[in-house]
Amino acid sequence: MTTVTGQRTFDSLDPATGAVVGTHPIQDAAAVRAAVAEAEVAAAWWAGLGPAGRRRRLLDYKAVLTRDLSRIADVVHAETGKPKGDAVLEVVLAVTHLDWAARNAHRVLGRRRVSPGLVGANIAATLEYLPLGVVGVIGPWNYPVFTPMGSIAYALAAGNAVVFKPSELTPGVGVLLAALFAEAVPEHRVLRTVTGLGETGAALASDPGVSKIAFTGSTATAKRVMAACATNLTPMVAECGGKDALIVDADADLPAAADAALWGALSNAGQTCVGVERIYVVDAVYDAFMRELTDRAGRVRAGRDYGPITMPAQIDVIRRHIDDAVAGGRAVVGGAGSVRAPFVDPVIVEDVPEDSAAVREETFGPTVTVKRVADVEEALEKTNATAYGLAGTVFSGNARRAVELARRMRGGMTAINSVISFASIPALPFGGVGDSGFGRIHGADGLREFARPKAVSRQRFALPGMNLTSFTRGEKELDRLIRLVTFLHGRRKQ
Ligand code: NDP
Repeated sequence: MTTVTGQRTFDSLDPATGAVVGTHPIQDAAAVRAAVAEAEVAAAWWAGLGPAGRRRRLLDYKAVLTRDLSRIADVVHAETGKPKGDAVLEVVLAVTHLDWAARNAHRVLGRRRVSPGLVGANIAATLEYLPLGVVGVIGPWNYPVFTPMGSIAYALAAGNAVVFKPSELTPGVGVLLAALFAEAVPEHRVLRTVTGLGETGAALASDPGVSKIAFTGSTATAKRVMAACATNLTPMVAECGGKDALIVDADADLPAAADAALWGALSNAGQTCVGVERIYVVDAVYDAFMRELTDRAGRVRAGRDYGPITMPAQIDVIRRHIDDAVAGGRAVVGGAGSVRAPFVDPVIVEDVPEDSAAVREETFGPTVTVKRVADVEEALEKTNATAYGLAGTVFSGNARRAVELARRMRGGMTAINSVISFASIPALPFGGVGDSGFGRIHGADGLREFARPKAVSRQRFALPGMNLTSFTRGEKELDRLIRLVTFLHGRRKQ
């Protein structure tokens, strides 16, 4: 659509009804350029506030978000279709991360002395992490508050300004987050939103004023964003999808495992990057676990317990994966008839071949495959046989074995005896390997992701007879150095 002023616009829709929820401008490369240029000014002011000034303002922002929790959740509900309770939970988690980032930024990033070592005994060495400038955040629609806030909160706390491009499916949430920030920090638009379609995100990624891009979305789009970033050698953090597995050990608490597996697979209609998409159950408890799982699944309904599929095009992917799974395996809950767009009822298929699309590709729907395995070693081998590597879950009665399995699971995060618990702990880093992306948000690593290390070495006094970085250096200095190094490093430890 084009308005009378010539501004192109797009609508955001309620995915359950198709009703128009809001209309937003499609900002082109020139508009993005102007936004980034203003953000550069805001970034200089924000950096100049220092850690205490930023911390106070970010805690104010947190208070404003908390005060308006219900209003934000309403917009999330309208644009994604998820139940309001789930939207509330998402905002609460985002607030928790904002609080942690604000309170811990100085401890993690602030200037500190480091040991110079014996050879540098005359040097005072300090390390600090300085802001990058303007961070561009390209966000997804599945958790339109929690996921971008995992970058926004940490980038702001590290002293950067943020230009946020929300998904075209959830622009209203992005606009609201920036408007509420302006209430807490009226002086400069340190957090601002640009709206539009994919090209607006591409313009942000290739803008020369952007110092880093934080992207969340599909692996395919991450590659395109990375190509755009290459124009200016702009670094990026990529949070892409996953094909996460849940392993059920022989001594697991089966009712708890089934309950968690179901919620991990179906909540948010399965549109969760760290959702459970595959389950591997050891032979000894397979039948008992399946009884627990199918019994519970029979009581879960799309449209009541979780919302519609937010992105209409995803329905085709989900349908293809269900058809593929049912063709190779056995549907034990639901099947092809479970797709009644925009809703999809729970689908559980067992014994699906490991090379099928339903097991290998991200489905992003309320479906899950279950496989019987001889033991946890086979479960782990199958879990790790994927190009993705985001997260996973282990259910086991043996804490030592569970931790060992968790550590060997390919991916950035593993939860034991619960699902997705790592995402709610702000001190833990979040991110993947392989097709799931690289870099980390959340925690100390998430703060450092949006900062550059600055090393300073100050010579306090000259070491007599040891000036090694001078053309006046002679044989004696070298002899002393060799003797010192031999003393320090020349012996093999037994
Ligand atoms: P995309 O990866 O296409 O979109 C993610 C974000 O990138 C959106 O804000 C999108 O904007 C933006 N974008 C799209 N094209 C470009 C571009 N060329 N340059 C810069 N930014 C761009 O995901 P989809 O929403 O299309 O979902 C597709 C699949 O991705 C899902 O089915 C799911 O498998 C996966 N996904 C994973 C998520 C996760 O949490 N890891 C989140 C969302 C999706 P716009 O919306 O305006 O196109």
